[in-house]
Amino acid sequence: MKKRRIHIFGKTTLFKKLLAFYLVIVMVSFYFMIAVGRNYIYRQVSGETANSLDSAAERLVRSGLISDDDTESTLQQKRSLFDVAAKAEACQILLINENGDIILDTEGAARAETKPYYNVIEHGESEFLHHDATYDYTIGGYLGTACLCITEPLRRSENFHGYLVMAYSNTLITTTADYYYNILLTVYFIVIGLLLLTYIGLFFFCFIPLRKLRNGSKDFAIGRDNPPIIIHSNDEYGEMAETLNVLGQELRKFDDYQRKFLSSISHDFRSPLTSIHGYLQAFKDGLIQPEDADHYYDILIAETDRLTKLTNQIIELNSYDRDNILLNVDSFDIHDTIRQVQGALVGRADKRDISIKTELASDEPLFVDGDPEKIHQVLFNLTENAVKFSYDHTTILLRTSVKKDKVFISVRDSGIGIPKDDLGNIWDRFYKSDHSRGRDKTGTGLGLSICKEIITAHKETIDVVSTEGAGSTFTFRLPKSQTN
Ligand code: ADP
Repeated sequence: MKKRRIHIFGKTTLFKKLLAFYLVIVMVSFYFMIAVGRNYIYRQVSGETANSLDSAAERLVRSGLISDDDTESTLQQKRSLFDVAAKAEACQILLINENGDIILDTEGAARAETKPYYNVIEHGESEFLHHDATYDYTIGGYLGTACLCITEPLRRSENFHGYLVMAYSNTLITTTADYYYNILLTVYFIVIGLLLLTYIGLFFFCFIPLRKLRNGSKDFAIGRDNPPIIIHSNDEYGEMAETLNVLGQELRKFDDYQRKFLSSISHDFRSPLTSIHGYLQAFKDGLIQPEDADHYYDILIAETDRLTKLTNQIIELNSYDRDNILLNVDSFDIHDTIRQVQGALVGRADKRDISIKTELASDEPLFVDGDPEKIHQVLFNLTENAVKFSYDHTTILLRTSVKKDKVFISVRDSGIGIPKDDLGNIWDRFYKSDHSRGRDKTGTGLGLSICKEIITAHKETIDVVSTEGAGSTFTFRLPKSQTN
């Protein structure tokens, strides 16, 4: 069984999808920026500060500030030097002896260097002395604010063993972290803003034209007679709109053609059927005298002939539409074809004292390349029309001439001619000019379109020159055969 997809959010569009995608990106990234980004930067800055303080502490110990001869009191006398070092690293420096006494504090002279010392062991806060770095630490409240404490053991002096501690305020770390975080936030908002601009650009340059194309093609699909899609841009969308408009026009033309085609067919079938029905009814009702019967039989035969011709021509044209025309191209003598057509129509022409003459390029056979049967049909249709539309007692001329590698075949009559306004339409299917209706009761309006299709399939041309009231000349071209 075919599964049906159910859209819980209704019909979606590319625009909505991209908007949802954008909003999800903004929300998720914003969450990460707020919840994770700040902590991450703080941790990075803390780590970096710890590394740089550690190196500073090592440098300080190795710098000779603490020498082999130093004792607790000599170190206390160097207090100003420690102050300078503390200022340079923006931190607080403590010296702690191995008993745990803070014997020097660059920020707490009164408290630390006068006895009794603050003793970290007594306060149960000595653990940090065994770690290189301790974060968020106040040494049991000794430091005013939470600090990052870097501990460097002092083993250089014979007389003094202890620790150098550098305490770096958390506030300073936060300030630095906030600085980087603000830069990151600014970059983040710029990127989000640029994405928004890109989205707005997409909206105007892609979604709006796409929507127009979609609506336009929907109209085409349901056959609505809509105005052309207008997209004023010289890009793929503009090109697509033009293509769709052409497609729409073609569809409309095809639609018109189909409607005309059906109405012409039904009209052309109805009139012979009506007359056949009328005459048969008259026979049945005994309204036709036996001596007139032959005349009416002829009419009935002519009407059925007309129906047969119409059906055959429709089938033929339909097969051209479906398969293109399959040609059995061969080299054949066009003069022979002309004579055959002349022979086939001479009887009909004679009845109205019309003579069919030929004026051939030579007495010799003239070989051309083409489908012999189809070209016979073209010549027959043209000559049959010439007979139909010629005035009585006139001459029809079938002529050939050779120019370079082409053979021109023409059929000239002296007849009613074709009005100028009709010249463009005579090749259309079912076209019969009003002018010719009185003279031609048997025509289907398909003969010339079949001729045109056949000659076009040969990749050659067919043309007409006509003067109303004087006559017409139809000329088509075929390649001269190179083999004979
Ligand atoms: P039909 O079967 O009606 O002759 P065609 O397609 O052969 O159909 O011709 C279409 C129309 O072109 C005719 O109805 C007629 O009006 C015009 N026509 C064709 N040939 C001639 C001609 N030799 N002289 C005048 N009009 C012509």
